[in-house]
Amino acid sequence: MGSELQSWGRYPHITEQRERSVTWASDSLPVPADGGSLLPYGQGRSYGDSCLNAGGTLLTTARLDRFLAFDPATGVVRCESGVTLDAILRLVTWQGWFLPVTPGTKFVSVGGAIANDVHGKNHHQAGSFGRHVPRFELVRSDGSRRVCSPTENPDWYAATIGGLGLTGLITWADIQLRRMSNPYILQETIPFNELDGFLSLARESEKDFDFTVAWVDSLGRGKSLGRGLFYRGNHAPPQFDALPLARSHLSKRGGGLAVPFDMPGFALNRLSVAAFNWLYYHRQRGRASEGLIHYDPFFYPLDGVHRWNRIYGRRGFLQFQCVVPFTDAGVAATRDILDRSARSGMPSFLTVLKVFGDVPSPGWMSFPRRGLTLALDFANKGERTYTLLAELERVTRDAGGRLYPAKDSRMSAENFAAWYPERERFAQYVDPAFSSSFWRRVNGAG
Ligand SMILES: Cc1cc2nc3c(=O)[nH]c(=O)nc-3n(C[C@H](O)[C@H](O)[C@H](O)COP(=O)(O)OP(=O)(O)OC[C@H]3O[C@@H](n4cnc5c(N)ncnc54)[C@H](O)[C@@H]3O)c2cc1C
Repeated sequence: MGSELQSWGRYPHITEQRERSVTWASDSLPVPADGGSLLPYGQGRSYGDSCLNAGGTLLTTARLDRFLAFDPATGVVRCESGVTLDAILRLVTWQGWFLPVTPGTKFVSVGGAIANDVHGKNHHQAGSFGRHVPRFELVRSDGSRRVCSPTENPDWYAATIGGLGLTGLITWADIQLRRMSNPYILQETIPFNELDGFLSLARESEKDFDFTVAWVDSLGRGKSLGRGLFYRGNHAPPQFDALPLARSHLSKRGGGLAVPFDMPGFALNRLSVAAFNWLYYHRQRGRASEGLIHYDPFFYPLDGVHRWNRIYGRRGFLQFQCVVPFTDAGVAATRDILDRSARSGMPSFLTVLKVFGDVPSPGWMSFPRRGLTLALDFANKGERTYTLLAELERVTRDAGGRLYPAKDSRMSAENFAAWYPERERFAQYVDPAFSSSFWRRVNGAG
């Protein structure tokens, strides 16, 4: 036992797990040791326990990192499942292609992006990542291999996209990239004073802006509850010839800042969170601004500081991400969650709000659906934090929303069953040798 692998939130902290590296896509899967189970592990960028397997074996995919084909005419790239989005960007951006959908970090694997059917700032236009994966191969513990697409093995396709790594190991995938006119984004940053301000900006931006997201001041209360900065943008038109600049930017990659050790738990307290949020909100001085920004800081502002999760100290942190309907009840629930977090005495360090569109997700277990999605990060203060999260979970449920498994380590089995009604059909496709700490927990066995 004794794998060092953890999830991004470093909660729960699991030591009793083995690691086994998968090197070749043609390898057959190992037999799980001691009656334990297998679970693929990409880059460990999931926050909770969906990429962990206490008592079992993690099949690490970092060595499945080969590109198999790329057609610059059609923009279809075929790669092994351990290839990261970062590696894809390095291959394709200078040829005028971009990822169809990207989460807020590029350090995730293709297998992980499919298994969580991740979403990005363009969900309202492009839907989730799985929609842009026309084909992949799935290997099962019985040695069977299936090519899955919307027409070949369509059930396996729908079970595996958003299937939390439980249906088998994805060995390779095709991704349909999107044309990019320019690696720079024309971005507008617009302050809003309260939640209603966000809602009108979100509504007015849906049609004309490919990318939208808002940062929310976690400490805003009363009249300022839900205030923040709204970001919206599109790839700049080709006449903004910034490609040489983009190349020099890419050549500097890897040289970013890093948090070298675990910060002491007290470094992130109410005062430091308040100071950060106040400074961040006021950096716009109440004015909207517009500018050209490279895609890297636009999509991946947190990637600039490697291992930033260490600022939360050894106990780690928990993320809470819900989606609630875009209705009066959903808006009221969003307000309630922000208010409870601000009043809790342990406010969220980073709070992000976005609107999901109504483009359907291809996976039975995919998280995104039309609504408001709010993500908050909480330092792990033990029971106090878990109690707050249970309250936020209840507010989400009462409003007809649900939580995102990729970010979760606390949701109850009862809520999971109610929120993911396809789980019974899905369970028939789970590989009998595969399991995860998350799966056992939400099935009342963890
Ligand atoms: C800073 C930051 C920002 C983020 N922003 C977003 C965001 O905007 N939107 C969003 O949706 N998510 C976001 N995430 C979450 C992240 O995108 C997902 O958790 C993603 O799935 C992680 O990919 P990974 O390669 O690290 O996979 P892991 O976390 O290692 O694994 C995730 C799941 O994929 C499965 N898996 C991995 N590889 C395979 C494979 N080859 N075959 C089958 N199953 C596999 C695992 O078993 C596990 O269930 C963010 C995370 C961070 C740290």
